[in-house]
Amino acid sequence: MSPFSKILIANRGEIACRVMRTCREMGIATVAVFSEADRNAKHVKMADEAVFIGPPASAQSYLVMDKIIAAAKETGAQAIHPGYGFLSENAQFARRLKEEGITLIGPSPESMEIMGDKIKAKKAVKAFDIPLVPGTDYAIASYEEALSKGREIGFPILIKASAGGGGKGMRVVWKEDEFAEALQRAQSEARSAFGDDSVFLEKYIAESKHIEVQVLCDNHGNYLHLFERECTIQRRHQKVIEEAPSSVLTPAERAEIGAHAVNVARACDYSGAGTVEFIYDPADRSYYFLEMNTRLQVEHPVTEMISGVDLVRQQILVAQGEALPFTQDDLKINGHALEVRVYAEDPANNFLPDIGRLIEYRIPEGEGIRVDDGFERGMDIPVYYDPMIAKMVVHAADRDQAIEKTLDAIDNYIIGGIETTLRFCKFAIDHEAFRDTSFTTKFVEKYFTPDVLRTQGNTAMDEAAALSAGYFFRRATQPESPLPVGKSAWQIKRT
Ligand code: ADP
Ligand code: ADP
Ligand code: MG
Repeated sequence: MSPFSKILIANRGEIACRVMRTCREMGIATVAVFSEADRNAKHVKMADEAVFIGPPASAQSYLVMDKIIAAAKETGAQAIHPGYGFLSENAQFARRLKEEGITLIGPSPESMEIMGDKIKAKKAVKAFDIPLVPGTDYAIASYEEALSKGREIGFPILIKASAGGGGKGMRVVWKEDEFAEALQRAQSEARSAFGDDSVFLEKYIAESKHIEVQVLCDNHGNYLHLFERECTIQRRHQKVIEEAPSSVLTPAERAEIGAHAVNVARACDYSGAGTVEFIYDPADRSYYFLEMNTRLQVEHPVTEMISGVDLVRQQILVAQGEALPFTQDDLKINGHALEVRVYAEDPANNFLPDIGRLIEYRIPEGEGIRVDDGFERGMDIPVYYDPMIAKMVVHAADRDQAIEKTLDAIDNYIIGGIETTLRFCKFAIDHEAFRDTSFTTKFVEKYFTPDVLRTQGNTAMDEAAALSAGYFFRRATQPESPLPVGKSAWQIKRT
């Protein structure tokens, strides 16, 4: 296959911008697609061409295969990068592209179908002796069956939707008498959220860590891993802070979990970049396969930082039919990387979305600091999409230095007009349990209450209010004055 000269990015926000950056470096022209809500978005400005695809609701724009395909044809893009979310793990889309002769920068529809269904995935990896969470690898048919299996596994038990994703479709059951109702609810939630009511059981490992392995595979029989990421700090079963490498694995464990991950990729004839997720039990250092995400992951930059590999470049090369340019032995871990996700959410209000205008927006700069974002000062954050606006990634020689550098960089990340997860991230990264690596996915539940933010100084909310008041005052009195600048209140008050 000849190299691509034009790629359409079927996504928005930071990930669309991030993919375009590599395309540019490779001399490949880019096509953006955008909804009504994204007319002035950063990814639209960044692209060489942009195609309008309809109303704000993603079901009428970013998720409409016909519109995306028409945009690719109209602009002559030979390939589509789907980013994450939206159509990225949609096997039907992958199939459609094949029929249309457009290359999807991602795995085959067959790989997506196997791994998109958690039960199918467990069945597929069995042949490779991958450790699985005690539980069922089939859908629960009746309450009686669930109960007898549940007693065997032992409580607490997690009921999971086979088609679940994005932290949705999970329910913990602590005692037998809660089981019947929980099962019924889980099934009906799965039906309405994913159009499939298949649920299965897993032992719930309450105090656990999330460890995942980045894999990279080509179409010439090469299956590699680029080490692990730890993504244990979560809210609503969704990651907020990630790091690479994990602070708990020994080199021998790292090699072993990496080999398992590569086998999971083999089990579905994987091609391109993917992530194999495991749950790790610090009590006995055991770990179990959870699922494979058949796309580029939000937190891929921490892997790029420690490995020196541009994952998007490799995705593109693999999709062009090239062989991976390195072997497992060529890959080495260099230093430590930490990523904090900047969500337009208020940590003090249960991490609920806090949408609005970015009255002030300035990113930290410096060696080893990378900000992947999709917004600029003055932009409105649309209510229609995922509220993640940016990721800040820091690379340093070791974990302690990465922690200090991240704390400092957070202080220099100025956002006014909305609340974000940054202040929560500062609290978490500065916490003893994070520093001493004892933290588990229960971190938020165990240690976080909104009052811990108060000791950090004024809330960004106060600051936003102050900024907007100042802004409108100055606009009213001095129409030519620039947007307000200055350090955020909580930054000034840092002690
Ligand atoms: P990652 O898995 O890349 O670490 P997330 O779990 O936050 O990060 O998911 C990445 C994106 O994909 C998010 O925008 C998330 O909302 C979305 N996503 C993934 N799977 C689903 C799903 N089944 N339903 C809804 N959203 C999903
Ligand atoms: P999703 O498709 O929504 O990402 P995952 O199976 O990857 O679903 O699980 C998401 C998160 O839920 C994990 O990172 C972990 O924090 C928690 N989780 C999943 N399975 C278990 C389990 N068996 N025990 C404890 N926590 C779990
Ligand atoms: Mg997952």
